[in-house]
This record gives sequence, C-alpha cells and structure tokens, in this order.
Amino acid sequence: MHQNSHSVVIIGYGGMGSYHAKLIKDNKRVKVVGTYDIDSVRAEASTQDGYRAYPSLEAVLEDKTVESIVIATPNDSHKDIAVRAFASGKNVICEKPVTMNVGEFEEMTAAAEQAGKVLMVHQNRRWDEDFLIIKQMYDRKSIGDLFRIESRVHGANGIPGDWRHLEVHGGGMLLDWGVHLLDQALFMIDSKITSVSSRLSFILGDEVDDGFEATIQFENGISYLIEVGTTNFITLPRWYVKGTEGTGIIEDWSMTGRTVTRNREVEHVEPKPIQAGVGLTKTMAPPSEEATITGVLPEPFRQPSSFYDNFADVLDGKAEPIVKNDQVLRVLNLIEAIFEGGRTGETVRDFDQY
Ligand code: NAD
Repeated sequence: MHQNSHSVVIIGYGGMGSYHAKLIKDNKRVKVVGTYDIDSVRAEASTQDGYRAYPSLEAVLEDKTVESIVIATPNDSHKDIAVRAFASGKNVICEKPVTMNVGEFEEMTAAAEQAGKVLMVHQNRRWDEDFLIIKQMYDRKSIGDLFRIESRVHGANGIPGDWRHLEVHGGGMLLDWGVHLLDQALFMIDSKITSVSSRLSFILGDEVDDGFEATIQFENGISYLIEVGTTNFITLPRWYVKGTEGTGIIEDWSMTGRTVTRNREVEHVEPKPIQAGVGLTKTMAPPSEEATITGVLPEPFRQPSSFYDNFADVLDGKAEPIVKNDQVLRVLNLIEAIFEGGRTGETVRDFDQY
C-alpha cells in the first residue's frame, strides 16, 4: 500500500470540514488534495491552510485525480452533492445527519449502488471513549445485565450557529446531537425496538427543537433514555446505567466515573434507617459499606480501526465499513419516529421492521 494513496476533497470548509482536514493529516493512507466552499472567506482559509481551493463543485467532480469527497456542508445539501458525486464516479464520506429524512437517504444509497461507489457516514461518536466504556459494560456484563441506560448531553448555550436554527437546513438538536446518541444506542444494543416515546422542547422559541427526550424500549428488556438539552445550567451525568449487579456513572468527557456493585462475598447487611426530610427511611438509606464494591470504570471496548483507516480498508476491499448504511437507515427511521412522537404525543409501537 502506497502512502497517502487515497485522495479526498472536502466540500464545505467550515467548522467540521476543517476538522476533517486535521483528522486526515494524521492518516498515512488518505490525503486531502483540496476543498470547495461557496463562501470565499472559507476558500481563502483553505488556501492559507495549504489546501487548494477548487472554484466550483463541478471542478472537483470533473477532476479525475480525485477519488473521494467528504461532505461537510449544512444538512439539507448533503443528498444533492452526494448524488452528483456518485454520478461522477467518486466515493463519498458524508457528515451526520446523512440526510434530512429516510427518502433522501434511499436516493443517496441507490445512487451509490448504481455507481458501484462507497458511501460512509461519519458517525464518529462510535469512537468516543465514554461510549466505548458503556459498550464494554453492556457486552461484558461487568455490572450484570443492563436494564436501564441514560445517555445525556446538556449545555446552556442554546442552539449554536446560524443554519442550525432553521428547519429548511435540517436544524435542531435531534438532527444535531440526537443522531449521534441514537446511533450509539442502536450500534450497542443488539435487540429489536418495541416502543419509542418522545418529547421535543422549544423553550428558546426557535422553529426547530432546542432539545428532546426519547425513551426507547428494547425487546431484551433495556429501557434506554436519550436526552439532549441546550438550556441546562446544571448538567446531569453523561451516562447513568443500571445493571442487575450494580450501577455505573460517567460524569463527563474527562471520564470521571465509577461503578458500585453488590458485594457477593458478604451476607446481606440490613442498612440502618436514616433521617430523610421529616421522616425516617431504611429503603432509601445508602447500602452499608461492606455490602458494596466501588470500582473504576472498565477499559473501553476497542474499535478495530479508526474511521479513516477503515475507509481506506473499505476502498482497498480489505474490510467492511464499521458504519454500515443499513444501520444509518435504522437510525433515520428512529429519528422520524421521534419527530412523530413529539408531534402527536403518542408512543410509537410498530417501529422495528428491520
Ligand atoms: P459550518 O456552518 O461551520 O460549515 C459549513 C460550511 O459549508 C460553510 O463554510 C459553508 O460556507 C459551506 N457550504 C454551505 N453550503 C455549501 C455548498 N452547497 N457547497 C460548498 N460549501 C457549502 O457547519 P459545520 O458545523 O461544519 O457542519 C457541517 C456538517 O458537519 C453538518 O452536517 C453537521 O451536522 C456536521 N457536523 C458533524 C460533527 C461531528 O462530530 N460528526 C460536528 C459538527 C458538525
């Protein structure tokens, strides 16, 4: 394998487009050979960063030396750019949410199939350490069988940026952070969904949601809460999980956390009643110290390779994509169910036809 043999051009050199350039710089098999952005200020930034700024999308697509593109533009433009790229014989890495809805995604995958080209969606948070620790707890049952997972991201800064406030561009937090947390849930839990209930919030008065809550019930008994908020001046922990043998918590992205499990070595010790408010309680008293074991978080599950190494392997026919398009489709279906549940207030029960 020659070094840097896979050439890519980044379409949309904004916040995430320039982050892709940094990610690819660390990769020995993929090389950024240029960018295209409709905004001349961003085109200038690209030139200054050492990347040729193509004058138009056509110019990128006509360039036979370009093997693949990365789409990092606002969400409403992904589908058309991808379909044109496939028609020109390019592979596509597309930012999340891959499209605005299921219908657009089906058009995109059909175009990829017809061209015989690769489409990989950048669901990068499958590589997040906090998630990989929880996945390890789930797979290895280190606190027993999980039956409740709470996955939250909280901020107090409202909806960021400009286009994320507008429906026409695919704004709102369900399509922004929601897609990551839902992708993690469906990647981790190998079970059918039996019901989904959801509530979207519009506290800031935007036309798109500034946060949401969704509870997904899986056939294997797991109740999975996902909550995204942008009006939380005090944040709740990133993860709170309950298993048949204990409880786990990850507070934040610096991996502060612990597990507390039942100590099987000691006989059952009755907790002592505590004063709680104006009453007494034994039920809600903390377990006695000898009855539990406080442990450190387990080692994270390891992905077989990084996103870009996997992309290069897929192009070379050496591996399957880690982010598979049928998984992406299932997440988009779930997003549609959450939007519907938010609109109607009803629980969606006939979700999982996949
Ligand atoms: P941004 O506004 O910072 O950048 C978008 C850029 O695209 C801008 O420079 C804009 O001028 C350019 N652009 C718009 N329409 C274009 C077109 N038709 N052709 C070429 N350029 C065009 O937005 P962002 O935060 O970088 O988000 C871009 C995409 O990346 C979105 O889909 C977003 O959801 C995704 N994203 C993913 C992650 C992640 O962790 N995976 C993080 C942030 C953003």
